[in-house]
Amino acid sequence: MEPITDLDIRPSFINCSKGAAKRLHTPRDLADQPWADLDFLGWTDPASPGRSYLVYPGSSGLVGLALRYEKGATRRAQMCSVCLTTHPNGAVRLMAAQKAGEAGRRGDTVGIYMCADLDCSLYARRKKSPSMGRLFREDFDSDERVQQIRAKVEGFIARIEG
Ligand SMILES: [Zn+2]
Repeated sequence: MEPITDLDIRPSFINCSKGAAKRLHTPRDLADQPWADLDFLGWTDPASPGRSYLVYPGSSGLVGLALRYEKGATRRAQMCSVCLTTHPNGAVRLMAAQKAGEAGRRGDTVGIYMCADLDCSLYARRKKSPSMGRLFREDFDSDERVQQIRAKVEGFIARIEG
């Protein structure tokens, strides 16, 4: 994706209030992100445990998603449904997103299992390895996984908007 700044990120959120989007913490190292290898920018908020964010460059502009996850980790290995990486102990989390608009204000959420560090783009390109990586067989080729990321994230955005 193209590099983006704090000013691009804040107005992009579709499922939280403008106030919340103004207050959330964007990554400090935005200038040093490996943009060329990213399908989306994802980060967890170190100041607010249980919150993470994803900003995706969609065909009609940036789409920002505010996510929440349970802090307790599961013990078993799980596969990220976005990049198909299998991680041990709690490195895959169920990320819940409040739906956009009226449904979200009523409390409706949708969820997706994904890498807790939101580095799906790097795992799919083999720029980063899960901590137990070598114990798992690589069943998916890198190109296939990269394409799948965009399809999965777009599907998730459609569920949030729907
Ligand atoms: Zn992933």
